[in-house]
Order: sequence, then C-alpha cells, then structure tokens
Amino acid sequence: MFDRVGQFLKPKQLARMQQSKLRRIVRYAYRNVPLYRKRFDEAHVKPESIRSLADLEKVPFTVKTDLRDTYPFGLLAVPPNRLHCLHASSGTTGKPIVVAYTQGDLERWGRLMGRTLDTTGVRKGDVLQNMYGYGLFTGGLGFHYGARAIGATVVPASSGNTKRQLMLMKDLRTSVVTCTPSYMVYLIEASKAEGYDPKTDFALKIGIFGAEPWSEEARQRIQGAFGLRAHDVFGMSELYGPGVGIECEEQNGLHVWEDEFLTETINPETGEVVEPGKEGELVFTMLSREAMPLLRYRSRDLSTIIKEECSCGRYHNRIKRIKGRSDDMLIIGGVNVFPSQVEHVLMNIRDVGDQYQIIVSHKELDRLAVKVEVPGNRLNDASLAKKIRDDLFAVLSIHADVELVQLGTLPRSEVGKALRVVDLRPKG
Ligand code: ADP
Ligand code: ZN
Repeated sequence: MFDRVGQFLKPKQLARMQQSKLRRIVRYAYRNVPLYRKRFDEAHVKPESIRSLADLEKVPFTVKTDLRDTYPFGLLAVPPNRLHCLHASSGTTGKPIVVAYTQGDLERWGRLMGRTLDTTGVRKGDVLQNMYGYGLFTGGLGFHYGARAIGATVVPASSGNTKRQLMLMKDLRTSVVTCTPSYMVYLIEASKAEGYDPKTDFALKIGIFGAEPWSEEARQRIQGAFGLRAHDVFGMSELYGPGVGIECEEQNGLHVWEDEFLTETINPETGEVVEPGKEGELVFTMLSREAMPLLRYRSRDLSTIIKEECSCGRYHNRIKRIKGRSDDMLIIGGVNVFPSQVEHVLMNIRDVGDQYQIIVSHKELDRLAVKVEVPGNRLNDASLAKKIRDDLFAVLSIHADVELVQLGTLPRSEVGKALRVVDLRPKG
C-alpha cells in the first residue's frame, strides 16, 4: 500500500496536524503574499489570532478573480527562480489562471495522487492508460506523477485519437483507465463501432473519472459496458490539480485528503459556513502549498460534506459527488437547473442513448429543449418522448421540449470536458 499512514490518519492525529499546519500557513501567506497581508489588515485579523480550526472562519476568502486580477504571478509566495513548474487552467474567458509549483509542491502533489490511485486499488504492475490531456491542463501530468509514485506502468496516451486509444487498450492489456467520464461514455459506442467487444476484448479493472460532473447512472453504464469499477475523482488546477478527493471501494462519496485540503461548505450568497450534511459551495484551504498558498479558496463547486465514518477505515471526510459549479447553473424561467440533473433523469431511462444536448432559448419565455439520442426504431416513439418529458418535469418542474434524434448524431467531445449546453439567450 502507498502512504498507508497518510490514508488512514486517525481523527485526533488529523485534527492536530491540521491545526499546526493552519497556523503555519496563515503566517506564511501573510508574510509572503501582499494580497493576503492586505486582506487580513483590511479585515483587522491578525495572523497570530488564527490558533485553532475554529478560528478558520475569521480568515478572509480568496476567489477566482483574485488569481485573474493578479495574473500571472500575483499570489506567489516564493521568488520565481524557486518555481519548478507552471500550469494554466483553460479559463473560458480571457486570461487563464496560472498556477505555480515548487519542487516540494510537485512532490506533495505526486504523493497525494499516489494515495488517490492506491485508494481505488491501483497497484504496481497495473498498466494505467492515462487519457487525460498532457499539457497545461493538470489532469495528464497529475495522474502521471501518481502512477510514478506507486510504480504502476503508465501509458501517457493523452487525450484524443480514439482508434489508437482502443488499440493500445487491447494490445497493452491496460488494466486502469483515467479520463473524463464523458469520454469514457463515448468509448462505449466507439469501441463497438471499431469492432471490439468492450467487455471481452479489454482487461480493464478500474476507471478513474473526473474533471466534470457525471451521474450515478453514467457510472452504471460505464461499469456495465466495460466490466470495470468506476471511481469519481475531484480536483482543480488551483489545488495542484486532480487528487483532492477520490472515491474508495465503497463508491459513496469522495474522501478529501484533509491533511492537505481543509474543507468547508458555505452558503454561496452570504458566505456563512453551512454545517456538514447540508449542500453548499466548497471552500478549501491548502495546508502546505509553498509556491501559491490558497486560504479559504472559493471553488464555486456545489457539494455536501459527509462527516460519517466510512467502512473503508479512512477518516478523511467525504464530499458527495459534485452537483455542478454555481456558474454552470442555468436559470430557466426562474428555475435553477443543473445539467447534471438532466443527465440523471435521462440515463435512468432504458432506451435513451448516452449522448444528449441541452438547449436553452428565449422567445417571450425561456424554453428548455433537450435533444436525446435513441435507436432508429424509437425515433417516432411518442410515448418515449412523453416519458422523458414527464421524468424531467418531476425533477426540474419545467416542461421541456424533447427531441428524439438518431444515435450517433449529436456532437461528441473527444478531447477534454464535454460541452452539452447551448444557451441561445441574448446575454446581459
Ligand atoms: P477549469 O477551471 O479550466 O475547468 P480545472 O481543470 O482546474 O480547470 O477544472 C476544475 C473544475 O472541474 C472543478 O472546479 C469542478 O468544477 C470540475 N470538476 C473536477 N472534478 C470533478 C468531478 N469529479 N465532478 C464534477 N466536477 C468536477
Ligand atoms: Zn471510504
């Protein structure tokens, strides 16, 4: 087992560790990052007054725009010549967010990724085909470092080139795959189209999927098709990259490595802390980051902290699967809709294909249309369309226009995260 001690820290040990690391990092950030100094001073908070975990609430938040506004190096706590690596997150608008790592940060990230892989059951001897993109995106290298840490055989396939992926998967006897869940769903049909039997032609045991929201139903489809165990993995570039949280074999919530990522949930409107068990915006404090410490970083991601013991024996708190980002949320005629809710409904219906598209438009009123792939003989099946409409209404309280389209006709994303929402409403 890799880093057994870190994986199985006892609650008391964990709390002690968190407290001393918190004190240290707060002082460190205040001393070395002008933005933090300014924020603390403005809030009249002395770094020395942060003594225990209960004091965390006094610490001012850090937000995504802080990283954009100080682009590229404003949050650095070390001189640039101490940086060993820089990554950047895609960033849909304007400048990306640049994230920096010292040697120590890279080593810590690698160890956390090693733990993350180990928790899913990956071991030395496994062949791990890494289909996350290598490059500025942290997914590719993050999983690469993790595989290196535990001594698994990593195949740095990167994203795209589906035919080659499938060939490698078969010929190299790949046992572990890592990619976005939408890409793995796409591989179900792509492998069949290439003449493979997904269950018997491959030797997959474990899949680790993240970087975008997905549903329990998508998990069932992936597991059913490939005969593997699918784990949800969570992370973001600002927090090293992937490997913040991972599902253990229970597949019931993601353990967050809390000796590094102190985790809170807040009400996104008021900023008030919400108690475990209630949904809120995840807020993370990195406890050991050298190059770019982040204190109470608002992720925009919505989830719920589960503070119950897990039967796997790990005491790191879990979070429920991410519902979406608060900025993914569509407001349709005043109703809040997350794309993940639509997926949940669709994938529960047997004859519905794996691909869908959500189209929001406005003509006097907001309209929600959902395009759903179905087999050719169901294209004119009014009762299927009605069932989809009814099931969507039951969850969303919105009447959606449902359009059944031929399997294989909606756009697929072979690289990176899926784009399933088309919002045609005028901006502003
Ligand atoms: P970008 O901000 O450019 O998308 P990242 O690759 O850092 O860059 O993306 C991090 C975000 O991806 C998270 O904040 C979250 O919204 C989403 N994400 C990552 N993992 C998951 C997951 N397992 N489930 C749902 N969303 C996820
Ligand atoms: Zn567990």
